[in-house]
Amino acid sequence: MSSEYQVVDCNECKQKFEIKAIKVRRLENAVDLNYFVCPHCKREYTSFYTNTDIRFEQKNVQSLYARFRNAKTQTTRLKIDEKIKASKVKLRTMMTELRQSIDNDLQNGVN
Ligand SMILES: [Zn+2]
Repeated sequence: MSSEYQVVDCNECKQKFEIKAIKVRRLENAVDLNYFVCPHCKREYTSFYTNTDIRFEQKNVQSLYARFRNAKTQTTRLKIDEKIKASKVKLRTMMTELRQSIDNDLQNGVN
């Protein structure tokens, strides 16, 4: 595995930087904001949000990966792989919905 970080352009100061760390800040309703900061101008960028359901599903995916690694037969591996794929689709949908609802709240001046 390569250890290269993702490089992005800052919209604020126009400088490139590597995303070396994702920070987490707890918001209302047990929502966690996962974000990173431009090292040049300190602008914050939202990476993604999680809530209780999403964090539960993330743990589920992690345990599926552990089971995948320990699987003895190819058949079992394939079954677990299907579950991982389904779980990731579910996660992506949940995260998109959460982000949209938070963005809507922000636009409507709630908070
Ligand atoms: Zn910047």
